[in-house]
Amino acid sequence: MYAIPLSMSSKRNSGSDTDTSGIEKSGALPVILVVEDEADLREMLADSLEQAGYAILQSGSVSGARHLMEKQLPDLVLLDWMLPDTTGLHWVRQLRRNARTRDLPVIMLTARGEVGDRVSGLDGGADDYIVKPFSLKELQARIRAQLRKQYSGDDQHQYMAGDLVLDVVTHRVTAGGAEILLGPTEFRLLQHFMQHPDRVYSRSQLLDAVWGQQVFIEERTVDVHIRRLRKELEPSGHALYIQTVRGTGYRFSTRIA
Ligand code: CA
Repeated sequence: MYAIPLSMSSKRNSGSDTDTSGIEKSGALPVILVVEDEADLREMLADSLEQAGYAILQSGSVSGARHLMEKQLPDLVLLDWMLPDTTGLHWVRQLRRNARTRDLPVIMLTARGEVGDRVSGLDGGADDYIVKPFSLKELQARIRAQLRKQYSGDDQHQYMAGDLVLDVVTHRVTAGGAEILLGPTEFRLLQHFMQHPDRVYSRSQLLDAVWGQQVFIEERTVDVHIRRLRKELEPSGHALYIQTVRGTGYRFSTRIA
């Protein structure tokens, strides 16, 4: 269900030749969730967007999409209007009511006959819509526009701690200019930490901030991802920034105790 472009490591990792055979190495790529019940169209979208440099999650139903989003929040959702379980519109409304997904860009895919409904789609909280059949070029331009808009609201695109730099727009983390490939969860975890340096977070606070409140994940999952994050930051010497605060949780700080 979770397709990671195979060409990614060569494309994005040209600077350092570290092995990227591990899972979840798509952290450097914006993630698009494609929710479309027509399998042919869904696959075609997934393939072409992968080629355009996105990591793709895909589902043929809203329930499947919800399930995927419990594990990982995408950067953008391409959402078909008519789906077998719930309408896309209904789901957009739900997404907008949830703090975790309120600002998630959603582009609706509508069939010609449904164009009259587009106003309710936009009223319901979709950011844009595109009418089938559409050109991939146009779709990609709209995706780029949404992603740009999403990040321009964030007045800070980069977070820095020493020579460790996290770029929200390009989804890249570098240390002294060399890219560090992180899994999507590790990326979000590090982003949260770097946005709030020197603040201590409990495991449940981190679950809320990084995974979302609706998720039924055990708190030790946080420890697993902290461990992974530290491992990825170890070679550049930044693992020490991810600090355990005994009895409380974790904090990101450049001050080494
Ligand atoms: Ca459909």
